[in-house]
Amino acid sequence: MRPIVQWQLVNDPFGDPGVYGEFMFEKRAVLFDLGDIANLSPRKLLRLGHVFVSHAHMDHFAGFDALLRVLLGRNLRLYLYGPSGFIDRLEHKLRAYTWNRIRSYGENLVLDVSEIGPAGPSARASFQSKESFGREPLTPAAREEDTIARAEGFRVRAATLDHEIPCLAFAFEEERHVNVWKNRLAEEGLAVGPWLRKLKKAVLADAPDETPIRAAARGDEETHTVERSLGELKRTVLEIVSGQKVAYVTDVVYHEDNAARIAALASEADILFIETPFLHEDAEAAAKKCHLTARQAGLIARRARTKRMVPFHFSPRYTGRAEDIRREAEAAFAGTDETAALR
Ligand SMILES: [Zn+2]
Ligand SMILES: [Zn+2]
Repeated sequence: MRPIVQWQLVNDPFGDPGVYGEFMFEKRAVLFDLGDIANLSPRKLLRLGHVFVSHAHMDHFAGFDALLRVLLGRNLRLYLYGPSGFIDRLEHKLRAYTWNRIRSYGENLVLDVSEIGPAGPSARASFQSKESFGREPLTPAAREEDTIARAEGFRVRAATLDHEIPCLAFAFEEERHVNVWKNRLAEEGLAVGPWLRKLKKAVLADAPDETPIRAAARGDEETHTVERSLGELKRTVLEIVSGQKVAYVTDVVYHEDNAARIAALASEADILFIETPFLHEDAEAAAKKCHLTARQAGLIARRARTKRMVPFHFSPRYTGRAEDIRREAEAAFAGTDETAALR
C-alpha cells in the first residue's frame, strides 16, 4: 500500500534544512525545521498542523516570520515544538511587531508552543491573535516515554542530542492502517455499518483476539447482529498494514552517546533524513562545528537499520561536489566502505 504521508526536503541539500510531510488524502501536513521556507507555497503552509524545530540556529528558525505572515487572519491552531527556551524565543519574535489591528479580526490564530527537555515536554504556552499574541501558560502534555506529540493517525517521538547546545531529533510514526476487504465481508455474510469503526478501534487498541465484536450480518430483508471474535474477523475481513516511520536528524556532533540515541530513535525507519554537512576528509572541521561527516551519518543509518537514508544540509564549501557527499554516505550505509573506521 502507498504511504499516507509523502515527504520532501524543503530545499536543495545546500539550502536551509527542513522536511515537509503531506497527508495524501487530507489537507494536513507537518514540518521539521523552520529555516528558509520560500519553496513552500501558501497552500502548503496553510496545511501545517505541527511544526517541529530542532534548535534555534538561524538556518532552522528564521522562517517563522514568513510562516506567521501566511497564517495570519485565519482560524487555525498550529502546534510548535522546540528545545528548552523555545517559548521565550518565539515570544521575542512575536513581540517584535505591532499588533494593534489584529484584535478586530474575526478570525483567531492560535500558536500552541511546547518545549521539549531531555525528560520530555517541560513547558507549554499559547499565543492567540485575538489576544494580540499575549503569552498564556498551559500545562505541558503528560510525559509518555519519548512521545512528544500525538494527533489523529500519528505520533512523534524526540531525542535530545548534543550540538554543543541541545538539539532535538524527531521520529514520525504513522499509526497502523486497518483496511476492510469489502468482498470478503460479503462472502462472510456480513454487512458494512458503524460496527466496522468499533472493530478498527479494537484492533488499534491491541484488544485480545478473543474480544467479542457485534457485527452486522445480512438477512433476507434487513441486517441483524451476530457475534464474532476479533481474531476471526482479523483473519477473514481485515488487512492490517504497519504505518510508515520517518526520522529527521540534523546538527549533531559525532560521539558514541549521540550515535546510540539516533540509532535508537531512528531504528528500522522507512526513511532517515540525516545531515551530512562535511566529507570525512574534513572530520576535524566537522567535529569543531559539532556536525556529522557523510561517513558518520551513513554508519549511524546502518546501525539504525533504516531502509532508506536521505542526506541533506551540505556545507557550501562542497558546492559542485554533492555527488561526493552522497557517495561517501551511501558507501558507509551499505557497508561497502572498508576504510570506514571512525576516529
Ligand atoms: Zn544547521
Ligand atoms: Zn545548528
